[in-house]
Amino acid sequence: MPDFGALRERMVAQQIAGRGLVGAALLGAFREVPRELFVAPDLAGEAYEDRPLPIEAGQTISQPYIVAFMIDAARVRPGQRVLEIGAGSGYAAAILGRIAAEVVAIERHGELARLAAERMERLGYDNVRIVEGDGTLGFAAGAPYDAILAAAAGRDVPEALLDQLADGGVLVMPVGAPGGAQRLVRVRRRGERFDREELEAVRFVPLIGEQGWPEQRS
Ligand code: SAH
Repeated sequence: MPDFGALRERMVAQQIAGRGLVGAALLGAFREVPRELFVAPDLAGEAYEDRPLPIEAGQTISQPYIVAFMIDAARVRPGQRVLEIGAGSGYAAAILGRIAAEVVAIERHGELARLAAERMERLGYDNVRIVEGDGTLGFAAGAPYDAILAAAAGRDVPEALLDQLADGGVLVMPVGAPGGAQRLVRVRRRGERFDREELEAVRFVPLIGEQGWPEQRS
């Protein structure tokens, strides 16, 4: 059995701190969450590699660095309420939960939502709520959110998410066509003003839903 603790420390040092993301709360969260429990057992040995990995339902668990980059870009801090769209394995939601006060993470695939919820329970991460549903509509019952992150690339930023952003809140999500050019977009809310900037070029799975892309036929 690999020494996951040592692999985790090395991942944090090289992939996150080594690339300039050095916030104490951020690094502390990555040191704590056992990524090997968020992938299928046969992929556990690869859990700390510098790349996304396949999970159930044809989806992926994001590269650790991109999770860290988005959390840093969204300025997630202790005490905040955070919404994540695209819970997938639950890894990013677990990291968010170690930093913020409360996290709601929405996942459209029932199987993934169930597995992610089981992981939160097993790890005792009781400030993270996994909800099955269409995250393009947000989760109004928990709004407003200080930060909203999406782990899947939308057609554009859904109106519903802007509505559910707190005054002073920050949304970070990829926007662009499935398999095509995508950019991370950051929106900051100031009253009824929404300041939008484009950050890095990225590659994510599609955000599928009412205010996202239509489901692909195959
Ligand atoms: N944050 C995840 C990354 C999962 S990949 C992790 O750490 O593992 C993105 C996820 O977004 C996929 O699981 C996909 O099923 C989900 N997704 C796509 N469109 C969605 C939507 N409209 N609502 C909720 N989840 C969605």
